[in-house]
Amino acid sequence: MTFDKLMIGGRWRPATEGQTIPVFAPSTGQQISSIPRGGEADVGAAVKAAREAFEGAWGAMPAFERGRLLSRFAARILDHAEELALLEASDTGKPMTLARNDIKACARYFEFYGGAADKIHGETIPYLSGYQVIVMREARGVTGHIIPWNYPAQMFGRTLAPALAAGNATVLKPAEEACLSSFRLVDIAMDVGFPEGAINLVSGLGSEAGAALTAHPGLDLISFTGSPAVGTLVQQAAAMNHVPCVLELGGKSPQIVFDDADVESASKAITAGIIQNAGQTCSAGSRVLIHQKVYDQVLAALADRFSRVVAGPHELDLDCGPVISAKQQGRVENYLREGERDGVTVAAQGQLHPRTQDGGYFVTPTLFSNVASTHLLAQEEIFGPVLVALPFSDEADAIRIANDTPYGLMAGIWTRDGGRQLRLAKAVRAGQIYVNGFGAGGGIELPFGGFKRSGHGREKGFEALREFTVAKTVILNHG
Ligand code: NAP
Ligand code: MG
Repeated sequence: MTFDKLMIGGRWRPATEGQTIPVFAPSTGQQISSIPRGGEADVGAAVKAAREAFEGAWGAMPAFERGRLLSRFAARILDHAEELALLEASDTGKPMTLARNDIKACARYFEFYGGAADKIHGETIPYLSGYQVIVMREARGVTGHIIPWNYPAQMFGRTLAPALAAGNATVLKPAEEACLSSFRLVDIAMDVGFPEGAINLVSGLGSEAGAALTAHPGLDLISFTGSPAVGTLVQQAAAMNHVPCVLELGGKSPQIVFDDADVESASKAITAGIIQNAGQTCSAGSRVLIHQKVYDQVLAALADRFSRVVAGPHELDLDCGPVISAKQQGRVENYLREGERDGVTVAAQGQLHPRTQDGGYFVTPTLFSNVASTHLLAQEEIFGPVLVALPFSDEADAIRIANDTPYGLMAGIWTRDGGRQLRLAKAVRAGQIYVNGFGAGGGIELPFGGFKRSGHGREKGFEALREFTVAKTVILNHG
C-alpha cells in the first residue's frame, strides 16, 4: 500500500495542505517512502469525525460487538504478521525477530482488550434507605493519542486497544520518524469493519499536527508517550482546555545486583534489557547497580556479553539494529564523547557487523564502569545501546542510588533473599519492579507507568481501562 493519505471519518484523504514528509530507513539512511504532513485543519476534521462516531454508530455499538471487532482485528493482524514485521523492521531498523515480536504484541493488545470490552463493570453503593446508587463506567468520549517511533506497532496497540474497547472514538498522531505500520494497521482495521470515525489517523510533525491535537478543545483525554520535554508541552496545552492526560515519559531504570544474585542469568537479562531495540526503550534497564563485593565479577560477566554484541541492519537479524535517525545517532554519540571527555572508563564495546552500510545510523554498544551517580551518563535517558555500571555498598546505598534520578519507570532486583526482594520492591520508586528477571516493555496484562518525571497514569492491563473510562454516579430516590 501507499502511505500518502490520512484516515479521517472512514475515508483516506490527502493532507489539506498537500505537503509530505520523507521517511528514511535507519539501516541504510535511504528514503523509502513519504507520509502526509497533516496540520490543524486535518486534526480538526479528525476530531469532528471522532465526535460524530462517538455520538453515532460507534457509540451505539454494544460492548460485546466492540470486543468482537477488536478480536477480529487481532486475528487479522496475525494473518498479516510477516508483512507488518518487514514494514516495521525497515521503517525502524529493528532486527526482524524483534519486529515479529512487536507485531505479535500489537495483536495481543487487541486480543486482550477485545476480551475485556464487555467486562467493564460499574458498581452499586449502599446509601440512604429509599435510594439506589449506581456507579457507571462510561467511555470518556474522544481520545487523542500521540505515540513515539521506538515501538510504533506496539504503541499503536497499547494506546488504541483499551481506548476502543472502552468505547472511545480515537485520533492517532504517530511519530514522523516511524509510522508506516500505523497506516497499514488502520487499513486492516477499516477492512475488519470498524465504523467510520472510530479510528482516525493524522500523521505530521509534532510541532504541527501534534500540537494542534493537544490544543484541541474537543478532546476528552490525551494519551502521550515520548520525551519529558514534550510531555510538559502536551500537559500545558491540555490544561488550557482542562483535558486530562496519561503521560509515559521514559526512564533511567536501575538493575540492582546483590552479592547473592545468580550472575549468569542476571548478566544475560541485563545485557538484553539495554541492547533490545538499540536501547531505545522507555523501560530499558540503563543503569546497573552492583554490590561492591561482586562488582568485578558482575562487571566482567557483563563486559564479556557486551563485547559479543553485534549491531547491523535489520535484515541480518542481529542483537542490535541502528538507532532511529541521524539526529538520534548524533545525540547518543554525544553522550559517548561526554563520557570520554570526563574520563569515564569504557569496560566493553560491541561490534558493528561488516555488512553495515555507511549511511545507516549505527552506534557502537558501550558499557561504562564506575560511573558516578551524579554524572549525566547516570542521570539522563540516553536512548541508545549504552549501559552504565555503578557500585553500591549496602541495601540502603542501593536504594538511594536507585532513586537518585528524576525518573521512576522500572527496576530490576537481583537477589535470592526474599525479605530483601520485598524491601527493595517497596523502597524503589518505580511503576514496575521485576525480581530476578527483566522484561523491557513486556506483558500486555501488566499495569505500567511512571513515578516522578516518568509520567503519570497507567497503561496496560485493566488499569488502562480505568484511564479510558470515567465514573458516573447515579443517585436514585425510589422512595
Ligand atoms: P518526542 O519529541 O517527545 O516525540 C514523541 C511524540 O510526540 C512524537 O509523535 C512527536 O511527533 C510528538 N511531538 C513532538 N513535539 C510535539 C508537540 N509540541 N506537541 C505534541 N506532540 C509533539 O521524542 P523524540 O524527540 O522523538 O525523542 C527525544 C527523546 O525522548 C529520546 O531520545 C528519548 O530520550 C525520549 N523518548 C522517550 C520515549 C518513551 O517511550 N518514553 C519515546 C521516544 C523518545 P514527531 O516525532 O512527529 O515530531
Ligand atoms: Mg523511518
